[in-house]
Amino acid sequence: MRSIPILGLSVIRLVLIMRRWFMLVLTVAVVAATAFGVEPAGASRGKVSVAAAFYPVAFAAQKVGGTRVDVANLTPVGAEPHDTELNSEQLDRLLDAKVAFVLGNGFQPAVEKAADRRDGATVELLPKLVDAKGKKVATEGKDGGLDPHVWLDPVLMSQVVGEVERGLAAADPNGAATYERNARGIQDQLAALDTRYRDRLTGCARDLLVTSHEAFGYVANRYGLRQEGVAGLSPDAEPDPARLGELAELARDQSVTTVFTEETVSPRIARTLAREAGGLRTEVLSPLESLTKRERDGKADYFTLMDANLGKIATALGCP
Ligand SMILES: [Zn+2]
Repeated sequence: MRSIPILGLSVIRLVLIMRRWFMLVLTVAVVAATAFGVEPAGASRGKVSVAAAFYPVAFAAQKVGGTRVDVANLTPVGAEPHDTELNSEQLDRLLDAKVAFVLGNGFQPAVEKAADRRDGATVELLPKLVDAKGKKVATEGKDGGLDPHVWLDPVLMSQVVGEVERGLAAADPNGAATYERNARGIQDQLAALDTRYRDRLTGCARDLLVTSHEAFGYVANRYGLRQEGVAGLSPDAEPDPARLGELAELARDQSVTTVFTEETVSPRIARTLAREAGGLRTEVLSPLESLTKRERDGKADYFTLMDANLGKIATALGCP
């Protein structure tokens, strides 16, 4: 009879000891997980949440932010970012992000309007970009809007990277040194890309780029080329037949060899023009506005697509 309460006491003591050990093991496990950077479920806890309006901006944010950031690209793979509409999940990502990067000047009105509702910082990139004389770069296209396609010019893309660096450092001052180092690395690569463009596009037989949508105005200005677009600054604008006739005549006059089109829009218009101008080739250039699924799966990125564009432009213009 005496042994039962003793046994009961022992059981209680044993439970208390086990509980103490359990708590100790749990504490060690949590400390170890934190120290070795194991993320709790949800994966992005502890990272700086960044919303980027479309591919080149997301690319810059990811490269500059590295492992410190969790970047949401608000324009899905294969989608065309002019006039992007946000679904509710994308809207939440935009509103909840610590810092958001949008192009500005009305490139994506729905995104920019939604960004006005944010509590956190929003960086509008295009109004900050300047030419060599310090003047704002945003230039007007033939249809009256401001030309948004700054990311296709490596020099302006380098400024985008600088603005992304400043925006991230303001949102996360502890990461400032990392962001600066990463930004310098990518700006060095952009300087090398600029040199490749400049070297390759010197001494070409022709200087006229005929494109389906006028995405290459800044590139043309930078490297001494001219651009004539069929559809204006927005790829879904329908050209009038008079414009097509005018371009066909210009193409014949200037011995144009190639009409450039792109993957995310219908090549119908470019094909019509190529036929009307007397059997020209059509070739795909990437406006780098978003990656297609094929490009993403093939591990393409800003730099591989920019180099691919350069090769096609140089061939079309008869560059040495
Ligand atoms: Zn465009």
